Amino acid sequence: MSSQDTGAAAPARIPVMIPWLGEDEARAAADAVLSGWVAQGPRVAEFERAFAERVGAEHGIAVSSCTTALHLSLIALDLGPGDEVVVPSLSFIATANAVRYVGAQPVFADVEEATGNLTPATVDAVRTPRTKAVIAVHQGGVPADVHALRAACADRGLALVEDAACGIGATVGGKPVGQGALLAAWSFHPRKVITTGEGGMVTTDDAAWAERLRRLREHGMNVSAAQRHASSKPIAESYLEVGYNYRMTDIQAAVGLVQLGKLDEIVARRRFLAARYAQLLAGVPGLTPIRDPSHGEGNFQSYWVLLAEDFPVGRDELLAALAEAGISARRGIMASHLEPAYAGHGAAALPVTERITRDSLILPLFHTMTEEQQDRVVAALRAQAGGG
Ligand SMILES: *Cc1c(COP(=O)(O)O)cnc(C)c1O
Repeated sequence: MSSQDTGAAAPARIPVMIPWLGEDEARAAADAVLSGWVAQGPRVAEFERAFAERVGAEHGIAVSSCTTALHLSLIALDLGPGDEVVVPSLSFIATANAVRYVGAQPVFADVEEATGNLTPATVDAVRTPRTKAVIAVHQGGVPADVHALRAACADRGLALVEDAACGIGATVGGKPVGQGALLAAWSFHPRKVITTGEGGMVTTDDAAWAERLRRLREHGMNVSAAQRHASSKPIAESYLEVGYNYRMTDIQAAVGLVQLGKLDEIVARRRFLAARYAQLLAGVPGLTPIRDPSHGEGNFQSYWVLLAEDFPVGRDELLAALAEAGISARRGIMASHLEPAYAGHGAAALPVTERITRDSLILPLFHTMTEEQQDRVVAALRAQAGGG
């Protein structure tokens, strides 16, 4: 980020997101390096325990990303060619791609406008006899109505995987997102609420799945490197099935443990800034900000606004005007079915998805954002909204 300081009092550019990392994370990473154990080891095990406990799950299996967490979750469900998995098109493309990794077919469902999430009705609209599972996304940290979705999936004999890449710290009915999930997949990419640089996690209450996923992330080995290290006798490992190298490093986990300790503070700050945005934006015509659904509370990992159909400028023009004012905003959540990777894939009509992806934008929101920065964003939006 260059400020191109000309001596004038040009305010610094406002980023859309920056992770809240500091000395504590740097020290934890240095300690891991100095310990000599840098690959998957004791810190990964500790991070798994702490993370699972925080989200109310029995088991945590740390992996290299949410994408690999989703891949392993679908393997746990034994999905493959001939099976269909219902996913929202309105998601980061990894949600749909993971289905293709196991040879199954992603089937795109629409979302509800208020949350950007699947509902039992949008799933039912595209379900067929080949449908085996559903991946519900907690989009942008807005919790999906998992109680309704779990009940609907149970009724129809479908497995429900939760793509909780953005969901850490969000709640449903006062309980953390992840609690009671069959399989939930999490991300620690810097764009998410807490980060390990890159990284992911699967959480589940099922001990047999947990054991298999631990094996699959480590080449299918029946003995982990950590177990081998801890044993006084040599242990010969064997490879029980074709696995992957989807491991997390102890350096990442060390950072993750510090970040997890800051989670409550981060979510509280994001919710404060989101509430303040909502208040300020109420005075700007033609913008509908994302807000908490009635069934839960979000973490506002992404704070988006939907433009009215008659907003005076188009979304891309609005993004350009914000950029001109030194503000980095982003187009709204992508729609996977519109990308070249899914050309010819076929999809039902997805009118809400297409409207949200076309007419929404994500505003800057990060832990260290100041109220003055937020006021600048609102002023720049107001200048484009017309009507003073
Ligand atoms: C970011 C994201 C992913 C991918 O996470 P990675 O850790 O980068 O693999 C998957 N699904 C959703 C909904 C995301 O937002």
